[in-house]
Amino acid sequence: MNVKATDQEYIANTYSRFDLQIVSGHGSLVYDDAGKEYIDLGSGIAANAFGVCDAYWQQAVIEQVMRVQHTSNLYYTEPQARLAKLLCEKTGMKKVFFSNSGAESNECAIKAARKYASDQGGGRDTIITLKQSFHGRTITTLSATGQEHFHHHFGPFTPGFVHVTPGDVEELRAAASGRVCAIMLEMVQGEGGVNLLDADYVHACADICEKNDILLIVDEVQTGNGRTGKLYAYEHFGIHPDIVSTAKGLGGGLPIGATLLGEKVKNTLTAGTHGSTFGGNPVCAAGAYSILSRIDEALLSEVAKKGEYIFSQFPEATGLGLMVGIPTQKPAGEVVRAAIEKGVLCLTAKDKIRLLPALTIPWEQLKAGLAVLKEAMA
Ligand SMILES: *Cc1c(COP(=O)(O)O)cnc(C)c1O
Repeated sequence: MNVKATDQEYIANTYSRFDLQIVSGHGSLVYDDAGKEYIDLGSGIAANAFGVCDAYWQQAVIEQVMRVQHTSNLYYTEPQARLAKLLCEKTGMKKVFFSNSGAESNECAIKAARKYASDQGGGRDTIITLKQSFHGRTITTLSATGQEHFHHHFGPFTPGFVHVTPGDVEELRAAASGRVCAIMLEMVQGEGGVNLLDADYVHACADICEKNDILLIVDEVQTGNGRTGKLYAYEHFGIHPDIVSTAKGLGGGLPIGATLLGEKVKNTLTAGTHGSTFGGNPVCAAGAYSILSRIDEALLSEVAKKGEYIFSQFPEATGLGLMVGIPTQKPAGEVVRAAIEKGVLCLTAKDKIRLLPALTIPWEQLKAGLAVLKEAMA
C-alpha cells in the first residue's frame, strides 16, 4: 500500500505531516519504511517517556492485554487503583480522575474548579490562564488557551476564561477578583514557545490564590512525569497546587490522562458528576504504572544533567530539563526538514526548535543528535 497517498486521501487534513513513515524503533532510535535510522529527539511529543518499545513497559502492557483489555469504569480494576495510589504517594495529592488525553485532564480540572466554587454557593466561575498558553483542542480547553490563532473558526467558545500576560503580577492581581475561581498555568509553556515562567511570578500567583481561596491548577501535560528533572515541574517552585493535570509521558506511549486533586477539591467530584468510558483503561494504566514507578531520583538527576548539557551546547535555549526550545535563524520547519534528511527527529514550538527526547536517551545518541541539529541549523 502507498501509505502516504492513502493517508492523504482518507485521513482528515488536520496534520501537515513530514514526509516520513516510521515503522519501528528501539529506545531513542526509530526506523522508516526504507530502513533508515533516526535519532529521536521528540519522543512522540514527550509521550514515549522511556523511548520506543521499552522492555519493562512492553511486559506490563502485554501481561495486562493477555488478562483483560477493558472493563469500563463500572467495575474496580487493579492497574487503575495501583496507579492512583502511586500518583498520590509521589505528589501528596489526594485523589485522581483518569481520562485519555491532556485536553480531557484539563476538562476535568476545569469542571472540578467550577464545581468547587459552585459548592461554595456559586457566583464564581471564571478561570485565569496565560497568554501563549496551550491547554488542548476541545472547545473549552481552546477557550482556556491564550493564543488568538487557535480561536479562529470555532466560536462561540465556553465563556469564563480570562488571559493575562505572563510575568505581569499587577495585571494578575487586578484580574483575580470577583468571579475568579481558579488560575491555570503551565510552569513551562510548551506549545507557546518553551517559555519558563519566572519564579517570582509563580510565587505571586500561588500567594494570590491562597489569600483569595482561588484554586491553583497546574497543567503538567507536557512538563510532567519527569520531563523537567522533577516528577512534576511545580516542584521546582516549591508551590502546592490544588489541581494538577497530566498526560503525554504518563502512559509511556499509550493514551492516558490524569487529574490529581488536592485536599480542597478531593471530594468535589461526586458520583455522576464526571466520567469516561476508557479513562484509566487497565492496559494504559498498567503501562503508566511501569513508567511512573521507575521515575526515581537517579533518573531525574540524569534528566537534569542531560538538560544542562543541551543548554551548554545551545546557550540561547529556553526551558527546563529535557524540555528545550532553541531559537533559530532559519525558519524552524526548514531546520526540522533538514534534520530529518540527516537522520534526526525534532519538533518546533512557535519559531523555535523544540526538543523533548526520551528521559532515557543514551548520552551518545543525545550528543550525536545535537551535533546533527547544529549542522541543520547552520
Ligand atoms: C499537549 C498538551 C495538551 C493537550 O494534550 P492532548 O493529549 O493532545 O489532548 C494540553 N496542555 C499542554 C500543556 C500540552 O502540552
